[in-house]
Amino acid sequence: MKLAYLATAATLAAMLSAQPALAQTKTGVDRLYILDCGQGTGPDQSRWSPGVNVGKPLDVSDNCYLIHHAQGWFLWDTGVADAIAAMPEGQKGQGTAPSWRRPKTLISQLDQLGVKPADIKFMAVSHTHPDHIGNVELFPQTMLLVQKAEYDWPLPGGASRFKPAHPVTKLEGDRDVFGDGSVVLFATPGHTPGHQSLLVKLPKTGALVLTGDAVHFKDNWDNRRVPEGNTDKDQTVASMQRIADFLSKEQAKLWINHDKVQGDQLKRSPEFYD
Ligand SMILES: [Zn+2]
Repeated sequence: MKLAYLATAATLAAMLSAQPALAQTKTGVDRLYILDCGQGTGPDQSRWSPGVNVGKPLDVSDNCYLIHHAQGWFLWDTGVADAIAAMPEGQKGQGTAPSWRRPKTLISQLDQLGVKPADIKFMAVSHTHPDHIGNVELFPQTMLLVQKAEYDWPLPGGASRFKPAHPVTKLEGDRDVFGDGSVVLFATPGHTPGHQSLLVKLPKTGALVLTGDAVHFKDNWDNRRVPEGNTDKDQTVASMQRIADFLSKEQAKLWINHDKVQGDQLKRSPEFYD
């Protein structure tokens, strides 16, 4: 009789301990880390602001953002390739493109936080320029969320921008990543055909929009300027308006990835926003 009771109690305990795994209610983001994913210097900022500040150099930041959600880790953008960290002079830019240095690798910054590549459940890239997709293949098991229009956009030589073997979900528009509204990818084409931006909602910090390269720095935002290298000017202007609409609807702050002046005022990993 007593044995049977114990067995029942054990079964009940097992059922109860299995509950959290079954529950579908793990919601919310609790931490966001800003990782240094490259430091750039452009020789001529009018590359991004046609006719304005011609010939003036500009320092640019390049961030990755590591976000902890109750259902797992999410990585937004991957920066310039970690291999650049080993180049004493960094990587020289062609023409007016920025030159890049990498004071710290992405992997070393994850390691400092005790996060292994296999721990990252989802990753998303704003677009496929080299300062954003430099380290996608450091996470060969991580589900990549990218707009289909970006994935299918061939390189000038016709080659694919991603390794076909990498797990991928090709999006056609917006995606609420964890289903609770806390991490939402939204389409902002124009810089490239399938560019996307990210809305993140933190409990204390509030809502943030992470731009990707929908805009490069605040002056361009304030004046709605479109860089000459963008694939579609009208789309770019419409996407900036879309971001402005998100900012007012969600009472969100705008964090511009390449704006070093803004970025220098923000907390850097291992500090975090919650
Ligand atoms: Zn960029």
